[in-house]
Amino acid sequence: MDTRRKAHFTMSAGPVEATERTLRALSQPVYYHYDPQFAEVFDDTLAKLKAVFQTQQDVIIMQGEALLGLEAAAACCFQEGDTVLNLVSGVYGAGYQYYIDLYGARSVEVRVPYNAAVDPEDVERALRAHPEVRFLTVVHSETPSGTLNPVREICTIAKRHGVLTIVDAVSSMGTLDIRPDEWGFDICVVGPQKAFAAPPGLALISVSDAAWQVMRGRRKPVRYSYLSMLDWKEQWLEQRHFPYTVFTSDVVALREALAQVLEEGLPQVFARHERSARACRAGVKALGLGLWPASEAIASPCCTALLPPQGVDEKALRARMYEEYGVLISGGVGDTAGKLVRIGHMGKMADPMYVAVALAALERSLFDLGHTVRFGSGVGAALAAL
Ligand SMILES: *Cc1c(COP(=O)(O)O)cnc(C)c1O
Repeated sequence: MDTRRKAHFTMSAGPVEATERTLRALSQPVYYHYDPQFAEVFDDTLAKLKAVFQTQQDVIIMQGEALLGLEAAAACCFQEGDTVLNLVSGVYGAGYQYYIDLYGARSVEVRVPYNAAVDPEDVERALRAHPEVRFLTVVHSETPSGTLNPVREICTIAKRHGVLTIVDAVSSMGTLDIRPDEWGFDICVVGPQKAFAAPPGLALISVSDAAWQVMRGRRKPVRYSYLSMLDWKEQWLEQRHFPYTVFTSDVVALREALAQVLEEGLPQVFARHERSARACRAGVKALGLGLWPASEAIASPCCTALLPPQGVDEKALRARMYEEYGVLISGGVGDTAGKLVRIGHMGKMADPMYVAVALAALERSLFDLGHTVRFGSGVGAALAAL
């Protein structure tokens, strides 16, 4: 136990706090990955993942943070001559361009300001104007902006055009009802450390048959590589042989985290995230602070991005909340750094009472930094919104 640890409440944009039960799973003896018992654990984890993803497609677990899964999708699918429609409404959408360049594809872009969401009609127009597009990449919840893109409408349009979809649902899966199969997701990448409140370090991915076909049909399919999705499909799913030493302890923890999501029930889990996010926004507005998203309709249930008041430095605000009150929240990332702060409410922390704690620390810290605050106004509005 690190007694110097100051954060009593990690209300970050992820990784978030794990539950006691997940922590206990992490303390179990380390499995040898070919222990026959571990095969059962691994299969059960995949079954639970399918249930939480609400998909019938294959699911795989790649070893490395969620970004590995996003890069692997590019590495395994794109080749010289391909055109990708990349949708950019924030830092992660913009970042996908690196992979498009690195793996030799060309790109077409639909871009909106980082406090807005992509309009499906613009996607339709872009696909009509560029019939050469083979792939579409989109971020569901742009965590650094606290915004949501309408992925259901977007991917439905893409499928009508015969375009393969790669969806970054890293922070949205587990916060709201997502249907990868009905909505036309071909590759959907999720992180364990966001809404599932498991430790970081894995990429959880659903893959459609169409996506497997594209990967296998490549001039040179990517195999025997840490970036290969096919290795997991062909070696584990088809031949029951692990391509690599499995991160067994991380899988055990993930399974325990998923079990808790399923025991609570998906509708209940989604409702808890919605309630927490709504309470948080009500509290922020009652404090007279602005929300970063252009409208509440596109606010993400995973975190609330808000604007510090004029004259209050966001770094000083976060430092005060942390040092004095033990509440850790996030700043912006990349182009949103310095412009906003984010209160995360995912997993265990998606609880209006934790949100009330974050708002209480926010109020008091604003006061400490010389901003006029009526104590209880933010917390009260959050409670009233329940
Ligand atoms: C957190 C996050 C990522 C990156 O996940 P890592 O596990 O840190 O690699 C990618 N996209 C979105 C939308 C995220 O929120």
